[in-house]
Amino acid sequence: MKAAILENKGILNYYTDTPTPAVPTGHVLLQVKAVSICGSDISRYAKGHRMYPLILGHECAGVIADVGDGVSRDLVGKHAAIIPVVPCFECEECERGYYSACHRYSFIGSRQDGGFAEYVVMPERNALIIPDDMKFEEAALIEPSTVARHILDLGQFREGQTAMVFGAGSIGLMVVQWLRILGASRIICTDISDDNLDTARRVGAHITLNPQQVDVAAEVKKLTGDGVDVAIEAAGAPQALMQTIAVTRPRGFVVCGGNQPLDASLPMSFIEDLMRKELSLVGCFMSYSAPFPGHEWTDSVEVIRCGALDIPTMISHRYPLSAAPEIFSRIAAHQMSHRKIILYPQE
Ligand SMILES: [Zn+2]
Ligand SMILES: [Zn+2]
Repeated sequence: MKAAILENKGILNYYTDTPTPAVPTGHVLLQVKAVSICGSDISRYAKGHRMYPLILGHECAGVIADVGDGVSRDLVGKHAAIIPVVPCFECEECERGYYSACHRYSFIGSRQDGGFAEYVVMPERNALIIPDDMKFEEAALIEPSTVARHILDLGQFREGQTAMVFGAGSIGLMVVQWLRILGASRIICTDISDDNLDTARRVGAHITLNPQQVDVAAEVKKLTGDGVDVAIEAAGAPQALMQTIAVTRPRGFVVCGGNQPLDASLPMSFIEDLMRKELSLVGCFMSYSAPFPGHEWTDSVEVIRCGALDIPTMISHRYPLSAAPEIFSRIAAHQMSHRKIILYPQE
């Protein structure tokens, strides 16, 4: 089969003759029709990964082509999206329904082979069956949508509240969309790229601010008085994280959804301000809740199906899978501005 294989830090090669995986008991084989590049795929490529060789890719959809023993053959031909986390379903955290905290989880596209390939094998439970009339590129973006939906659960967001999203990258834009869908009364979004801010307005942000042009905290104070109910850090920038505290109203919620540079630090005044306002600071890791994989997934299918989640605006590029090596190297070298990039193994 065709596959783009990560062979070392910065080394991604495309092959047309990789063995198609066997289908173990309890598993299904998905023929990949569309797979999207996640920021985490780029960072695994650019910064190095825990294991090689590996096929990355977890934002992925296709058609079930074969099933292993113990799985109904009726699934063959059904359309499905990948649910990437593979929990043990036995440990203490799985019992509590906290699948992303599983003591011994695997993850399709990071700890086992993923979707930058013609075929990917996974446990039956990890195939989210989708409607036949949903486009595969739409279904490939179910996963990033679930992360945004999960972030708003963690921030205890409720209809009518105000919210601020730092960073209009893929996750930030998905959060803006979910805030619109769930009825936020005011959505403010920041980014250092005016293009990204244009997109944020197109998908639902009421107000956009570029921190390189305005004093974000002062603007939000003017707009909201005491601040927003929920702030979401989706930029992965320490300056943005610092500002979340300033723009959130007392007793509000701050959700960390962006991966921060590990060598950065924040002044302890961050904690003092957090204490004075009695804010809740919440981390987000993955997008699951009980019963597995959680309402984040069924909700995402629903809003894509009815058109409430604007997917076309999220996608900036489409390429055949064979272009993966070139695309990864250009993105890692910051030579390509993009939103979601969809790769097609069939072309
Ligand atoms: Zn992802
Ligand atoms: Zn577990």
